[in-house]
Amino acid sequence: MNKMVMKVTMVVLILLSLGLAYAIYHQLTKSAVIQSVDEIVLKCANPNCDYEKGITREEFRIWVRRDFEKFMQANPSRRLTEEQKQELLLRDLGSKRTGLGLTCPECGQETVFKAIQCEKCRKIFFPGAKKGAVYDKCPECGFSKIEQKKNK
Ligand SMILES: [Zn+2]
Ligand SMILES: [Zn+2]
Repeated sequence: MNKMVMKVTMVVLILLSLGLAYAIYHQLTKSAVIQSVDEIVLKCANPNCDYEKGITREEFRIWVRRDFEKFMQANPSRRLTEEQKQELLLRDLGSKRTGLGLTCPECGQETVFKAIQCEKCRKIFFPGAKKGAVYDKCPECGFSKIEQKKNK
């Protein structure tokens, strides 16, 4: 091998290992999304956006309230009873089931929904990601807290 080829090979190898290191770092920092059980995991459903975050219930409440105001302004003709309002605030907004997403701080689309973080492999996914299985079954490693509890 001549010197030039050696040099190019070295550079390529260094770049590859840097890329690998970055990928590992990215994975590690990502997997630390949830700090405590009291947090809610959010994920953006926009395939071009990788927003994922664990926030406290209080932060989530504030966020939902803010988006609720926007929702009401966008639907001025919609008359809601007090009960429906509470339901929107507590259950429906940010739920994949209703499709009423919260506004994503990264891509700006209304596609942020509550998600689940796998206890085993730390993957973040939407409930029911695995078809025909319990809603909390991880599409990555197959772990399910519900199933684990049942089998005990
Ligand atoms: Zn997004
Ligand atoms: Zn998993």
